[in-house]
Amino acid sequence: DLPALGIDVGGTKVAGGLVAPDGTVLATARRATPGASVSETEDAIAAVVEELAGARSAPVVGVGIGAAGWFDRTGDTVLFSPHLAWRNSTLRKDLAARLQQPMWVGNDADAAAWAEYRYGAARGADLALMITLGTGIGGGIVMNGRLQRGAHGVAGEWGHMRVVPDGRLCACGNRGCWEQYASGTALGQTAREVARNSPAAAALLLERVDDDADRLTGEHVATAAAEGDPLALELLADVGHWLGQGIADLAAVLDPEVVVIGGGVSVLGEMLLAPARERLRRALPGRGFRPGPRVVAARLGAQAGLVGAADLVRRAVADDEV
Ligand code: BGC
Ligand code: ZN
Repeated sequence: DLPALGIDVGGTKVAGGLVAPDGTVLATARRATPGASVSETEDAIAAVVEELAGARSAPVVGVGIGAAGWFDRTGDTVLFSPHLAWRNSTLRKDLAARLQQPMWVGNDADAAAWAEYRYGAARGADLALMITLGTGIGGGIVMNGRLQRGAHGVAGEWGHMRVVPDGRLCACGNRGCWEQYASGTALGQTAREVARNSPAAAALLLERVDDDADRLTGEHVATAAAEGDPLALELLADVGHWLGQGIADLAAVLDPEVVVIGGGVSVLGEMLLAPARERLRRALPGRGFRPGPRVVAARLGAQAGLVGAADLVRRAVADDEV
């Protein structure tokens, strides 16, 4: 029962882990994602793999890679990525030559959904949805024990549902996408807007960036909220409301049993989830006459993606699919 390597390639970082068959993370490594360059992103992935493979010279089952891109059904081609440079890119082929290992390659949030279904908050659910809140909003669907990837491999991209007609410009090229209102990036953007328009109200946040509103990020808001800053808490509740509204819409389409919230922003737990549940309660179509989904934090936290990718390569090897 060898460990597998799981790699999560997000908008800002490449996080890797050596993962035991029971989902335990035995070692981790990370690099920044050089998002603008396909070849440098591949270098960063290879560097994380090398660091982890070197950490224990023991053999591994293979390398699973969950990346913030839209893959075709085979996982051979990254069709597109809003936050990274991939456009019809041959990620699997490029890496296969370098890594010389069996591989699973697919979407980061799909991998996270799988991890939560296998080991975490969605264990045993007939229909579970994953929502990851990071640079963008990622999504994954596990139904009847299988990851559902749609006809062309790109199901579950609900970060790009239009929630505001002609709203904020999104990295996908459209306007008003959900991830422009309910991701880590959105948290930062709203904070900058508030700080520019009402610096006095944002004084505590501005102290963190030497009064330079342009430097505020979602992470500043997150730390400030954790320390009890009222404006930061309000901004977080705002993201929570957008989240709850979107979940109500997803419930209208898919009627899931459980919705798991993961990604970096989800470490804030109830500060985000309580407002999300509250909005869901008021926005669920047919409320009062039908059950809605449970909304819970990812049990594997921000490691869900890498844990899932590791399990998916383990399965692919066992099923002879690599
Ligand atoms: C992408 C998803 C990805 C997510 C990561 C979204 O913009 O469409 O594929 O999982 O960002 O944050
Ligand atoms: Zn979009």
